[in-house]
Amino acid sequence: MTDPLRREFGSRAKDPVLRRNLLRATDTSNAHRAAAAAERADWEELRSRGAAIRDHTLARLDDYLAEFIRSVEARGGRVHAARDAPAARRIVTGIARRKGATRILKSKSMATEEVELNRAFERLGFEPLETDLGEYIVQLAGEAPSHITAPALHRSAEEIRDLFLARGVLPPGDRPPADRAGLARWLSLAARRHLAPRLREADLGITGANFLVAETGTVVLVENEGNIRFTTTTPPAQVVLAGVEKIVPRLADLAVLLPLLVRSATGQRFPGTVSLISGPVSESLDIVLLDNRRTAALADPGDREILRCIRCGACLNVCPVYRTAGGHAWGSPYPGPIGSLLTPLLSTRDADRALPHASSLCGACSEVCPVRIPIVDHLLRLRARAAAAGSPASPGPLAIRVFSYLARDPRRYERATWLLRRFWGIALRAGLMKRWTRYRDAPSPAARTFRELWRDDGPPAR
Ligand code: SF4
Repeated sequence: MTDPLRREFGSRAKDPVLRRNLLRATDTSNAHRAAAAAERADWEELRSRGAAIRDHTLARLDDYLAEFIRSVEARGGRVHAARDAPAARRIVTGIARRKGATRILKSKSMATEEVELNRAFERLGFEPLETDLGEYIVQLAGEAPSHITAPALHRSAEEIRDLFLARGVLPPGDRPPADRAGLARWLSLAARRHLAPRLREADLGITGANFLVAETGTVVLVENEGNIRFTTTTPPAQVVLAGVEKIVPRLADLAVLLPLLVRSATGQRFPGTVSLISGPVSESLDIVLLDNRRTAALADPGDREILRCIRCGACLNVCPVYRTAGGHAWGSPYPGPIGSLLTPLLSTRDADRALPHASSLCGACSEVCPVRIPIVDHLLRLRARAAAAGSPASPGPLAIRVFSYLARDPRRYERATWLLRRFWGIALRAGLMKRWTRYRDAPSPAARTFRELWRDDGPPAR
């Protein structure tokens, strides 16, 4: 792993406030997800059907993309193809210019984060306004989202209260309630009061898409706050920016994919609102389909499986690395286990090839993934790919060679662990482990090794 990555993961892991916020939020999400999955007796079958739909679509994506474009155009919409992030920015800002827009409403969209659309808008003098509460919070804080479905998950209610006071969202002298539940409700009402008048002045609305249905040209949007409905219906013009892999063949596929998405993301039986937009709601509907190296990933059957992802965020919530370091440590709009797979596929930065190493390989992510992506297998595959390509982002081959030499001979291994236990404390005191302990713990080895326990006490009783 390169030094910048070590710095990121290490410094975040040592922030106790961040860690408390992360654990509190992800524990709640995990409990809701597990209860929602347990409620459906056919959950495992549903997961297999979801994986099959995604695999089938990705194997025939060319055909379904062509069908989607025909369906959208037949209903009066326009479709644009964006080869990469600069092309996506050019197309969307070009539409905004042609529409004479200045105020732009945005609802939560990973694709717009991926192409850094807000920054492009601000450079050109547009005023993008995030309408999702979590996105609004990170926009006010000048941060990037830290989670796929909960952008401000790393912030406590108390931190958000202080941010709102500093940015004038709360009038000075306003007294927030002391209890946590009351405070959360009070903050969302304050944001609503602050945003509402600005929502009605917008000229253009931009959303992502949860799914794009080929047979009807429908954009499917799932939400709980009602802000997406506002973004798609209030401004005269609408733009959708979504990755090409969001296509599904038929409306009927939503009967499988929506429950998988919603129960895995928020633990709900059904979300607050699902919008199915087929054709322009008002003056115009422009749909920008983003490639950004996705079609290259499709060509490799292993990489293609990663594109099954429906962005539920469940793998982030169970990941011990994510729960410790938080999403910003990935330096990518896609953090957590799926981010460690997607980011190296979609990015050209060499440092991003190290991300598959940001995992303990515990397998919790693969267990919860609603579309059965074998995340751990892909983490190992991408590690091997980076090493084979001689990426400087791969960990030192010397350490691996030394371990492999020791592990191949039981007597050699035993002698090495004996030495390690004798000299561990001395090595720590002499500062030989300084580079490691700057960002991590170095727990002392156990007094008796597993092999000694087995030899002296015998195998555990059954
Ligand atoms: S990889 Fe699976 S669990 Fe993770 S976000 Fe994608 S669909 Fe959800």
